[in-house]
Amino acid sequence: MNQANMFSPLFKTVFFLLLSIILSCTEKRHARVFDVHLHGDTAPEKQMHNLAVNGVYAIAVSTSWSGQLNYNTDNELAVLRGLFVPCPIGIVPYSKQKCFENGNEWPDINWVEQQIKEKKIDFIGEVLTQYYGISSSDTAMYPYYGLAEKYDLPVGIHTGAAGPDHGCPNFKLQMGNPLLLKNTIIRFPKLRIWLMHGGAPFVREFIEMMKTHPQLYADISVLNNPRIVPPKQFDSLMRMYINEGFENRLMFGSDNAEIKMTIAAVEQLAFLTVAQKEKIFYKNAEMFFSKQH
Ligand SMILES: [Zn+2]
Repeated sequence: MNQANMFSPLFKTVFFLLLSIILSCTEKRHARVFDVHLHGDTAPEKQMHNLAVNGVYAIAVSTSWSGQLNYNTDNELAVLRGLFVPCPIGIVPYSKQKCFENGNEWPDINWVEQQIKEKKIDFIGEVLTQYYGISSSDTAMYPYYGLAEKYDLPVGIHTGAAGPDHGCPNFKLQMGNPLLLKNTIIRFPKLRIWLMHGGAPFVREFIEMMKTHPQLYADISVLNNPRIVPPKQFDSLMRMYINEGFENRLMFGSDNAEIKMTIAAVEQLAFLTVAQKEKIFYKNAEMFFSKQH
């Protein structure tokens, strides 16, 4: 037996050990992600597959009613479907398809209840009152909030600012102030609400609402898009929100920005622990969207 043969079993063992370590490292490359803020795309299957290969396993999607029928839970992704309300001048902001085939701004309340019963609506949102130019506590919203409370459905409300070219002539920046929700919370104390886009630029108002109403959650979509919010600003906002004690109520959303980029933006927040990142990526959303909490 020569020396080479003598060492070969040891060499083999070491080789396979190293190989398995390398494989296990590459396997856990993807974060586990629940994307709570998504809209439709012209190629839904491609969109959904791209999300899945980047670690997304669940989405909360809102888009035109006819487009939304293309989004169904499959073996890659669990899908929760929303309801745009109100729909300014009958069209989806930015993409500009009709929200509803009949061109309605406000979907018929009996029809909405029927869709909820048929399990076609899992949450009310994106609530577009700001794009419509009214308060999120305008009483025109109360029938919809009432249904959400009755069926224990989450409600996602657009807060903060908006990008250009949304096509909504009555949009008002000041109607994105999170404080406007106060009357709704008084009237519907059991409503499960999440503030979309983390409230910015109404940061102080957002913090006040989150502190005063511990049942509120929020998504961080747009804030985590470095093409809109510079990474330094995202970093300081998130530090502030974590310091205020919101780590159990912040949820990841992409709002259709490149998924790799928005996940990386959160990964790059060096002050967050692994456990905090897991909460933001999916654990908080699982808690919020499940009914037992
Ligand atoms: Zn929005």
